[in-house]
Amino acid sequence: MKHIVLLGGGHAHLVTLANLWRFRHLGCRVTLVQPREEHYYSGMGPGLLSRMYEPWQIRFATRRIVENQGGRFLRDAAIRIDSRERTIRLQSGETLEYDLLSCNVGSTVPGGIASPTARDVYPVKPIAELMSVRDRIESLVAHKHCHLAIVGGGPAALEIAANARRLVRRSTGHPSRITLFAGKRFLSRFPEKLRRKSRKVLYELQVDLVEGDYARQVDTGRVILGNGSQWEPDLTLLALGVRPPSLFADSGLSTGSHGGLLVDEHLRSVDFPEIMGGGDCIAYQPRPLDKVGVHAVRQNPVLLHNLLAMVRGDDLQAFRPQDKYMLIFNTGDDKGILWRGGLVLRGRWAFRLKDRIDRKFMRRFQALEEAPP
Ligand SMILES: Cc1cc2nc3c(=O)[nH]c(=O)nc-3n(C[C@H](O)[C@H](O)[C@H](O)COP(=O)(O)OP(=O)(O)OC[C@H]3O[C@@H](n4cnc5c(N)ncnc54)[C@H](O)[C@@H]3O)c2cc1C
Repeated sequence: MKHIVLLGGGHAHLVTLANLWRFRHLGCRVTLVQPREEHYYSGMGPGLLSRMYEPWQIRFATRRIVENQGGRFLRDAAIRIDSRERTIRLQSGETLEYDLLSCNVGSTVPGGIASPTARDVYPVKPIAELMSVRDRIESLVAHKHCHLAIVGGGPAALEIAANARRLVRRSTGHPSRITLFAGKRFLSRFPEKLRRKSRKVLYELQVDLVEGDYARQVDTGRVILGNGSQWEPDLTLLALGVRPPSLFADSGLSTGSHGGLLVDEHLRSVDFPEIMGGGDCIAYQPRPLDKVGVHAVRQNPVLLHNLLAMVRGDDLQAFRPQDKYMLIFNTGDDKGILWRGGLVLRGRWAFRLKDRIDRKFMRRFQALEEAPP
């Protein structure tokens, strides 16, 4: 009996998760390994911070979805893949054998500039942790006038800063100051039109924007920039972009420059065809991909098809990334900014559109949590 192992039930594995029963029908065993029993949808993460969404609205009960279809769920984390032996070492000490492995272990926010002993310094991933950050901000602003810092210059930093503003405005506490430390240049990989619009939004939301230099060091109550200027925030959120975990490099597999599993156009490891992957944790060999959920979501049907094809010995499908994709930023004021190529639009309708797309996505996969009839 072939054993299929899925590492992580992230955005790229959702369609495979919805079709686990098909592997069972082909006589396979399926095991999913994930450190948490639930998976949180990052697109709604900033709204979780501002209490726009409740936790249950933005998470999938991964264990239930797997077990409903006769799969095995292991609450654990992979720490090494021994690709010659076809085994995975888990944090618990257990070793798992596999015939076919698919990796969707996501990415983490590099915390290198933050002191490991720093208090009230939080990365924006894992998304589930934003619940305790939210509670902490509320308890701080209940007692005093606070200064919140967001370090990072991309869309996640913008959304987190804007939703932190919503959170403190709606809390019954003291008014707070929010500063976004955006590095050399805010939203540097985006067109000037989007940068201008986003700066204006931050101004309206009374979020101070500091550009021109990167943060060099973050510690308890301190942010130090490269030019030596020092700031004293009460709480700091790190949204410094994301990197794949060291799992693949530690396992001696070929990786891209940032440590993502190097895969070909069929999303298969360039070294070992029985190892596949999707989402933020891969380096797609044909061309670099931005670390956005849009790519992970579109890899879903390809991963499912290719996993089934590997079991049956059928032809594989190639993943063709979109050249242009759309992002909508939740700016916490019931409005959004829509960006697609040269198009930049702002309004209530933009947030409503994002909200509708996100809720529909959640409903589709949360429906799998119900026990089958
Ligand atoms: C605040 C924020 C907002 C964002 N908003 C958007 C947006 O609106 N639109 C957009 O397109 N992109 C957005 N992104 C980017 C998006 O989050 C990522 O591109 C997306 O999450 C990638 O999905 P993934 O499945 O690869 O990883 P993840 O969603 O991180 O899933 C990885 C899963 O693997 C599990 N895992 C981790 N390590 C292990 C291990 N060792 N063993 C087993 N399992 C493991 C994790 O627990 C997790 O469940 C946002 C990012 C952030 C930080």
